[in-house]
Amino acid sequence: MDRITIPDDQVVPMEEIAGGVRGLRIAFVNVFAVLHGNGSWTLIDAALPFTATFIKRWAEKFVKTPPNAIVLTHGHFDHVSAARDLAEDWDVPIYAHALESPYLTGEKEYARPNVGAGGGAMSLLSPLYPRGPVKLGDRLRQLPAVGELAEMPGWEILHTPRHTPGHISLFRQEDRCLLVGDAFCTTKPESFFEAAIAQKPELHGPPAYFTSDWNAARESVQRLARLDATIVAPGHGQPLSGANVPEELRRLAVRFDEIAVPENRKRSAA
Ligand SMILES: [Zn+2]
Ligand SMILES: [Zn+2]
Repeated sequence: MDRITIPDDQVVPMEEIAGGVRGLRIAFVNVFAVLHGNGSWTLIDAALPFTATFIKRWAEKFVKTPPNAIVLTHGHFDHVSAARDLAEDWDVPIYAHALESPYLTGEKEYARPNVGAGGGAMSLLSPLYPRGPVKLGDRLRQLPAVGELAEMPGWEILHTPRHTPGHISLFRQEDRCLLVGDAFCTTKPESFFEAAIAQKPELHGPPAYFTSDWNAARESVQRLARLDATIVAPGHGQPLSGANVPEELRRLAVRFDEIAVPENRKRSAA
């Protein structure tokens, strides 16, 4: 693909989302740094192609050392594309759920995006996205199926399919902070150009054009809503925090079909 140029004003840091959690928005997708009590840190997701320099420059402002690992919420190109470069540069492993591995080794490709879903510029652009193969090679490791990753003490790994089969979310019980990847968004994710403008965060479903199973996606949101998270940081849109977040999440879970499922998929999700 051609080299894409992302203007500097589209690379926006998000300070202190929760204790030790920072974010960086690059165009329409976020990455997060999770700092641990022992001084180590972990990068969550790895954004678009040619963004490794942005991510490194950002991290160097608050940490002096490379992270202990890169953890991927899932394998879509807008969450993984700088992972290989960063992992080589930092000499660190890349973790993903076992069910996501085939899409990260070149063995499998995701289904074609549902271009009609959700409307908007993102959907129109989606056939142009590189669907793969992403090849993370021998840097790739499997996340434990349940519990914690040693590199991320205090963070529970939750399997939340089926935006993709091996999609995960991360939850820290201590402050009820939840990193949700693309399980759901706080912006209408199909609106690429609108999303680039600061919007008041509001809950939406997962990016529709790539979501493959709406029943499973609904169940994942229901499971996340039961956590009573008070801080939510998504892959697309701004973080949300506050006492009303658990209630807003329950509302998204209850009204998921109305809010999230695109018209042309409603019948199959019923
Ligand atoms: Zn995705
Ligand atoms: Zn995404």
